[in-house]
Amino acid sequence: SSFGFRDVDAKEKVKMVRGVFDSVASSYDLMNDLMSGGVHRLWKDAAAAKLNPRPGETILDVAGGTGDMARRYSRMARRAQERRGGEDASVIVLDYNAEMIMAGVQKGGEPEMQWTVGDAMHLPLPDASVDAYSISFGIRNVADIAVALSEARRVLKPGGRFLCLEFSRPTTEVIRQAYDAWSFHAIPAIGQWVAHDRDSYQYLVESIRRFPDQSTFKAMIETAGFRNVSVTNLSGGVAAIHFGWAI
Ligand code: SAM
Repeated sequence: SSFGFRDVDAKEKVKMVRGVFDSVASSYDLMNDLMSGGVHRLWKDAAAAKLNPRPGETILDVAGGTGDMARRYSRMARRAQERRGGEDASVIVLDYNAEMIMAGVQKGGEPEMQWTVGDAMHLPLPDASVDAYSISFGIRNVADIAVALSEARRVLKPGGRFLCLEFSRPTTEVIRQAYDAWSFHAIPAIGQWVAHDRDSYQYLVESIRRFPDQSTFKAMIETAGFRNVSVTNLSGGVAAIHFGWAI
């Protein structure tokens, strides 16, 4: 097999596979915490509050990785349901990397969650089938952003919400300089130290640089057919939430 497990018995194999995904998930989480000083958790909380998941809704989290956003949506919808009733929400985590999905399953889900392997550019869902679409630190990696946005528009019901959480442009020169020093020097060094992989983290920093700034990305979202698009800067624009409505 591709994992080289041919000579081990089934029980042992399960244990080893589990170990692989545990380490994917935990090194991924550790890197996020180290690179952002833990702040990515607060950004995700802010984004989940903005999406405002409600009981009975179908919420799609694209490029959902190990399910950080989907867990938040599930718990928030359930808390609202406990207060004022309604149906169970359904939260779909979609990611094209099966290892991330398996690491997320391993980390544990919520009853509302379903895990799916799929591509942001070809969503395996019918037109007008979800109440809210979210993508967190994922759209930057998608080959054609306009295609992903038009897929988001397609699967959303009329009146549905679009939310994107992504790195963006620091809004002041002071923050920009501090952030550049951090991202060009510290992040690749942390990547080397923790993941023994400087190049991937160098690439990560460059992909953040290349990603369109707040107003350019807002215009792209409008071009895809969303209305009342708003931008919320987080940590002085190091990250931003773009939010809009499908009409
Ligand atoms: N959303 C999670 C979070 O905020 O922690 C994970 C973010 S992780 C940096 C980016 C994820 O995007 C990876 O899990 C990757 O597999 C996924 N991804 C990249 N391109 C994708 C695509 N075209 N379709 C679906 N998932 C994609």
